[in-house]
Amino acid sequence: MVDMTEFFGGVLCLDFANSLDGRRLKVPKETLFAYGDLAQWALRAGVVDQEVAERLLRRAAAEPGPAQEAFNAALELRETVFHAFHAIARGTEPAAADLAALQDAYRAAMAAAHLVRADGAYGWAFDGDDPNRTWWPVARSAIELLTAGPVDRVRVCASSGGCAGLFLDLSKNRSRRWCSMSSCGVEVKTRRQNARRRATRATGH
Ligand SMILES: [Zn+2]
Repeated sequence: MVDMTEFFGGVLCLDFANSLDGRRLKVPKETLFAYGDLAQWALRAGVVDQEVAERLLRRAAAEPGPAQEAFNAALELRETVFHAFHAIARGTEPAAADLAALQDAYRAAMAAAHLVRADGAYGWAFDGDDPNRTWWPVARSAIELLTAGPVDRVRVCASSGGCAGLFLDLSKNRSRRWCSMSSCGVEVKTRRQNARRRATRATGH
């Protein structure tokens, strides 16, 4: 299972999809229960800085309605991102409805984006304290992954323990199988060692 302080996806949109952990369990492990959790996630993911996160939380306290709407939109986007890239990881086509939803989310995000120059490079930035700022960069990340890649490197964790974590396999020989060696990778290693030990005992060596 995944330690949620850990971002193993390799790209923002997959990290966000992984904020619902243990997707193959009967009861997956939710980490985002309310807008405050989303703002904290955005802070940990580097989507916003401390000052912006605090501003978003203050505004959410003052205007819970729009914050709740942003939270709902974020969770909807998260499921869309998961389903689209899970399909891709399995070598199938994402559903047309999921692609359309990603397109809509991206359009909404980019309508609020500003072109900026920082550290000698041009890029898109979001400012202000719109509660949707928490997920706008996720929508951009998803479309960039689809259009610029490396979409052929998207993988789903090979764990049989309930994890369906998504990540980019950027290893040279394309051999990464686990969301994280320190969680699912370790589980599997331990299971293998136990099985080997049992086999050794059974054969009397
Ligand atoms: Zn895993």
